[in-house]
Parts: sequence; C-alpha cells; structure tokens
Amino acid sequence: MTDILIFIAAVVLVGQAIIGLAFFISCIWEREARATVFAGIQFLGMAALAGLFFFIRGAGFFESTPGLALLIAGLISGIFITVLLMRKSGTNPKALEGTKGLIAGDVKRFDEREQVFARNRTMRPGSEQYNIFYKEHPEYEEFDRQRREKGGVNGRPGSIDKPYGQPNIAAAGAGREMCRQLSTPAMVKPQALPIFQGKKVEMNPEEASERIKGFTRNLGADMVGITEISPLWLYSQRGEIFHENWEDWGKEIVNTHKYAIVFGTEMSFSVISAAPHTPTSIESSTQYAKGAFIATSLARYVANLGYSATANHLRYYDALMVPLAVDAGLGELGRHGYMITKKLGPRLRLGAVTTDLPLIPDGPVDIGVEDFCRICKKCAVCCPSHSIPEGDQAMHNGTRRWKLNAETCFDYWGKVGTGCNICMRVCPWSHARTFPHRLIVEWVARNHLARRIFNLMDDIFYGRKPKARSGPRWAKYDGPWE
Ligand code: SF4
Ligand code: SF4
Repeated sequence: MTDILIFIAAVVLVGQAIIGLAFFISCIWEREARATVFAGIQFLGMAALAGLFFFIRGAGFFESTPGLALLIAGLISGIFITVLLMRKSGTNPKALEGTKGLIAGDVKRFDEREQVFARNRTMRPGSEQYNIFYKEHPEYEEFDRQRREKGGVNGRPGSIDKPYGQPNIAAAGAGREMCRQLSTPAMVKPQALPIFQGKKVEMNPEEASERIKGFTRNLGADMVGITEISPLWLYSQRGEIFHENWEDWGKEIVNTHKYAIVFGTEMSFSVISAAPHTPTSIESSTQYAKGAFIATSLARYVANLGYSATANHLRYYDALMVPLAVDAGLGELGRHGYMITKKLGPRLRLGAVTTDLPLIPDGPVDIGVEDFCRICKKCAVCCPSHSIPEGDQAMHNGTRRWKLNAETCFDYWGKVGTGCNICMRVCPWSHARTFPHRLIVEWVARNHLARRIFNLMDDIFYGRKPKARSGPRWAKYDGPWE
C-alpha cells in the first residue's frame, strides 16, 4: 500500500515539475523576460520538491509513521486542490443567452453615420452629406472639426515610430487596400457565376452547415460559427462609403437574411506583442484583408449554390460583428469591447456572411469571461487614453455592459498613427496558446477560483502593465536596419 502511495506521489511531483518546465520554456519562447525569471524560480522550486521527495524516500522516511502520515496528508491536499480548481463552477446564464443576456432596456439600431470612422473618414467638409449630418448632429461638429485639423489617424500614419516605421505603414496600407478592392457591390453582394445560375442546390441544414463551416476554415478562418441574426445588430443607416456610391449614404440598411456565418482569423501573437507600434497595424490590416478574401469567397460560394449572400468585412458592414460572433458561440464580450474566445482570446479579426441559406445555428458559450473581467481590469489600467471603464458594467443603448469610449480611443490612434491594440496585447487571454497556456485557459473557463488565482499569477509573471516587445525583425521599427 505504501509503495502505491509513493508511486502516485512521485508521478504527481514529476508531472507538476514537467508542467513547470513547459511553462518556463513557453516564457522563453514568448520572449517574456520577467515571466521567464518567475517561471524559472517556480520550476526550480517544483524540481527541488520532487528531488527532496526522492531523497527522503531513499532514506526510508516513508516507512516510518510520521513519514506515512505526511505522504497521505500531501496526497489528500493535492487531490483536494485539484478538485477545487478543476470542478465546473456555476454557469453564467447571461452568457448562455448571448447578446440577449446583455439587453436590459430598449435597444436602438446603431446608425453607421455616427460611427467614429464614418464621421472622420467618409465625411468631406462642405459636401451635401456633411451638411445633412452635422445639421442633425450639431453635438459632433466642433469636436470632429478640431480632430480633422489635427489630422486624425490618416494625417499622421505611424507617427509613434518615425522615422523607422514607414515600411510597416506601407505594409499595413497594402492590406487595407485589398479590403477596399473587395468591397465593390459585385464583391459583397455576389451573383452566381453564369454556369451556376438557375440551378439551386437543395441541401438539408445539417449538410449545408457542415459544408459551409468546412469551406470557411479551408479558406483560412481559425474559428467559425452560425447564428440567427438579431435585427438589433444591423446598422440602421449606411455611413461608410468607399467607391463613390454616395447614393447609398444615409440609406436604411435592409438585410432580410436569417443567418450569419461569422468567422475569425488569428492575430499573430508575436506581431501584436509590439502594440501600439507599427507592426500591430500590419497585423490588423493583414487579418482584415484575409477576412475580406474569406467573406467574399464564401458569399460567392453561397451565391453559386443558388442563395442570397452578403459579405461583411472591414470595408462593408451591414451588421456589428462582435454581437453576431457572440451569438454564434465564438466567445464572450470582454471589458475591452473585443470578443474573448477560448481558442485565441481576443486575438481575432472578425468577418461574416449573411444569407438566406437554411443553416443550423450554434449556441452562445459561457467561458467565464464576465467573471474574469470583473476582477482583472488590466486593459483598463493599461489603456493610455483611459477609454476602457474600470468600474462595473453600465447601461448603454438598452444593454448592460462595459462600453469602450470610441472617441478617446480613436484620438489615441490619431496621436500614435496606428491602431494601438494595447488592450488586446495585455489581456491575459491573449497569451500564445502553448501547452501551459492551453491548460490554464481550460481551468479558467471552468472554475471561479482558478480565475482568481491565474489572474493574480498573470500580474506576478507578466506584470500589471506589461511592456511592448520589439516584434519580429522583418517588421523592425525601433532603430536603423543593421
Ligand atoms: S484585460 Fe482583463 S479585464 Fe480586460 S478584457 Fe482582458 S480579461 Fe477582461
Ligand atoms: S486600442 Fe488602445 S486606446 Fe483604444 S481602448 Fe485599446 S488600449 Fe485604449
């Protein structure tokens, strides 16, 4: 009996030392100096404990009554702690309702013309649209005028990394232009190619869903889900114009599709580790370009099957992407306004195709994000423009949630000339999905106590205000090329 207990204890101690070593290696791979030091100390402690165990076992200590008592006490406490951390805590019923769980009043559809990009990018001073909009919204006029005078994001691209970041800004521009090219009416609302016209393919919803999801992944999506569209998340009026189709500006957005296929593409951990510097702009625009390719290809596929489809991507949105993605079960809404997923945290860019092709919707998920965000607040602490609330969720347009201040966030983008992304970089859910981080995410998604422990550990290992790293060499921004 004693031999069996010793064997179990040895397996546990060696196992935890191996996990400690894996975490140490993971921190080196992540190029996190502070975390590497702490993970090294942790691993040495674990290895020393395992060494001490084998030493006292060799000395016959566990044959004695106190030794056996210590062995049994150690095993019981180990089992107790494991069960405490791994058991599933109570579920969050709000999360399982998706965006319905956020609704606490009357929700008004959002007018795309009021969106900060539409006001500052689309609107041309002196134009008919300018006069119409600011007559209806005098509260924005002086504010936006001053912002335009300062240049906004477009006026000072890459200013944070001058003079070395210009190649990165050139790369970021390539991705954004791809999105623009793929946003013509023929690309976002495609017709079936001539050989498929008049030949509707009949499929049951199960088959259609599986084919659609498989094709979306094959196009390069890292996550994909399906939801029935809540009309609340459709923009009310068109506000962003990219192909001089000004007749669309201010028109009601009518989308009668029942379903949305929502997908995400991964933002590279190593590239966004440089946020808010210029490599992060490359990564955002690259993933948006990938999203534009996926959305337009998928929409064409659906059109070729004989159904109506609309591609939603950076340069053409009928709907708000985050609520659709939450309802499609990809993740939960985080404090910083990004959706947080189990697979990749918030490191995703989203796109969607809306359609009348009958599909099987996925259900929303509860992975403990709301509970984690309540205690964490790291994004709010690190946000240089204080755009993320540190307090409780509050009411905004009929929903109770944390609401990012898009105006001050956008002003910071204008100051640095990039898309910032600090909040995405510092979020504890953003770590590269190495084996130890996957394990931690599993615990955190299941258990309330694990959220508290790993939130504290994240502060200890990575710091309360983690610093930007240099990013990959090909996107060097911090000095002359050597
Ligand atoms: S940084 Fe913390 S509070 Fe902010 S979204 Fe991520 S988990 Fe939530
Ligand atoms: S992108 Fe930057 S400025 Fe905007 S909310 Fe995130 S951290 Fe703040």
